[in-house]
This record gives sequence, C-alpha cells and structure tokens, in this order.
Amino acid sequence: MKAAVLTTPPPTLSIADMPTPVPKGGEILVKVAACGICHTDLHYLDHGVPTFQQPPLILGHEPAGVVVECAPDVRGWKEGDRVLIPAIFSCGHCYYCRRGRENLCQNLEMLGNHRHGGFAEFVSVPARDCVPLPEEISMEGGCLIADALTTAFHAVDRSGIGPGDTAVVIGCGGMGVNLVQCATLAGAKVIAVDRVAAKLERARSLGAEELVDASQIGAPLSKVLRQLSHGGADVVFEAIGLTETVQQGLGALRKGGTLMAVGYCSKDVALPVSRVMFYELEIRGSLGCPPAKYPTVVELVRRKKLDVDCLVSGVLPLSEISQGLDRLRIGEGFRWVISP
Ligand SMILES: [Zn+2]
Ligand SMILES: [Zn+2]
Repeated sequence: MKAAVLTTPPPTLSIADMPTPVPKGGEILVKVAACGICHTDLHYLDHGVPTFQQPPLILGHEPAGVVVECAPDVRGWKEGDRVLIPAIFSCGHCYYCRRGRENLCQNLEMLGNHRHGGFAEFVSVPARDCVPLPEEISMEGGCLIADALTTAFHAVDRSGIGPGDTAVVIGCGGMGVNLVQCATLAGAKVIAVDRVAAKLERARSLGAEELVDASQIGAPLSKVLRQLSHGGADVVFEAIGLTETVQQGLGALRKGGTLMAVGYCSKDVALPVSRVMFYELEIRGSLGCPPAKYPTVVELVRRKKLDVDCLVSGVLPLSEISQGLDRLRIGEGFRWVISP
C-alpha cells in the first residue's frame, strides 16, 4: 500500500510502498478515507521532536475510515462500519485508566508516533477506543473530531464553565476556535483573542461575542480583557503556550477564576502566586480527551451543535501531502486533510 513515511536523518516525509498491515489481537483494519494534517506532524519534521517508534514510521494521527477486517477476538465491529480512530490509545488497566482518566494512561500509544499512523491506504488499530462515525458526518470533517475537537471539548468540560460565565480564549488556531465553539455550547459568553483578523472572524462565526485583536490594542492584554469582561473572566483558556500569554491570561481572571493551560508551553513561567492566593485562582491543565467522552462529541457534531466541516480548508491526495504540510507551515488555510 502507499503511505507517507517518515525517515531520518534528516527527518523526511516521502511516499513509499509499505506492507498492508494485518490486524493483530483486538485490532481492526481500516481503509483510511481521510486523515488530518496537524502541527504535531511538523514537530517531527521541522523541530527535531523524535517519534517513539524508530523511523521508518507512517505518520498521521487523525484518521477516519471504513472497517475492512476485524481480528477474530474483536466484538462490536464489522466490515463496512464507518469509524473514527482516536489519536491516542489507552491500555485500559493502569491506575489512571481504572479511574476513568485514560488520557493520562501510563501506557499511552499515539498513532503515527508509537505505531504506524493514518497517512496510508490502510491502518490497523486497537478496536477498544474507536468510535462509530454516523453517516451524517463527512469523513473529511469527522477525522478532525478525534484530536482537534475532543481536546477542546475536554478542556471546556474540565473548566466547569456554564451559562452566566465569561470565557476568554487566547489564540484562535486549530485548538482555539474549537475552544470557542465548545465554550459557547456550554453557555458561556466568549471573548476571543488573536493577532490574525481571519482567525478572529472564524472565532466569531463559531460563537465568540467579542473579538480582541492583540496586535491593535494600546493597553496590556490582561487589562483590556478585565474591562471587556466587567472585572475579569471566569475562565481563560490559554491555547498558545507562550510565557506572556500565560501571564496575561492569569491577569485577566476575576476572583475565583480559572486559568486553563491548554497550549503547550515549553518554558517555565514566573507567576504571581500571591494573586493566586488572594483571589483564590486556579490553574488547571488539560491534555487530550478520555475516550469515554468521544461518543458525546460525535453526537454533538451529528446534531450540528458543533461544526467540523467549517474547519476543513481543503482535501489533498496522499501524493500531495508535502504541499499540505507546506501550507500548514506558512499558516495558509486552517486544517488540511489527506484523502488516501
Ligand atoms: Zn493532531
Ligand atoms: Zn492505562
């Protein structure tokens, strides 16, 4: 089968012939219909982030497709079923899995990182965490549910935000706009922050009531946000991962507010702990999404409460995956999807 394979050194992605996988115990073989290209793929290619499995490795961790074969011990799946494959597989038996926190599993396996991924005609994956994809959801949009949308859904769920609350989303990229639509669905009034007008407009179309172009403000961002939210936000979602935006996010909270750390911040951040104490602030992390929440997100998409089709900038054949990666590098479009 044809696949986009990472080789090193230097990190290179090229189309190659790979053996079609055979499903092992507990696995289903899926004919990939669509697989999202993600910034994580660029980390392996451009930023020296190593993959857990030694290259050559097929990348791609956001696939959806159709089941073509099941291992004999698999129950609940059959040939022809439409399936959403999660980016991450949990073990089901470690301390965290037994407490329903499978996203923190000690034995996590990520597609296109610990094992061959979805930029291929076929992928074989553990059936346990896979989710049925209803007919009403397109493969191209549906493949973006597992990573981009569920991660945002879990973060909003963990924040406890609801009607009457004001939420700020800092950074309206792939994660941020989904935070906007999930927080809006939860009933919060959402203020979206970015430096790119097009991203802010998308945030508006997904429910943001107020937009802040951080490149156009004359005062510190935290002050602007406190004014807009009449004294501070109940929750700030930091979806960029920069030292300054984490600090500005904390500074934008009202008393009792919560800063949700959603973006990956590679540096240590100096924080005013006295403010955390006096204002009873909270800082909470959020990582991925436990598989148990996936069916809820899929159902919300099916009922058009959450939108994924609007996130798809275009669909490219596998042979044009490098063009898709280039477009991601220069920030052209939003999410590009490969259709092998
Ligand atoms: Zn991803
Ligand atoms: Zn586990």
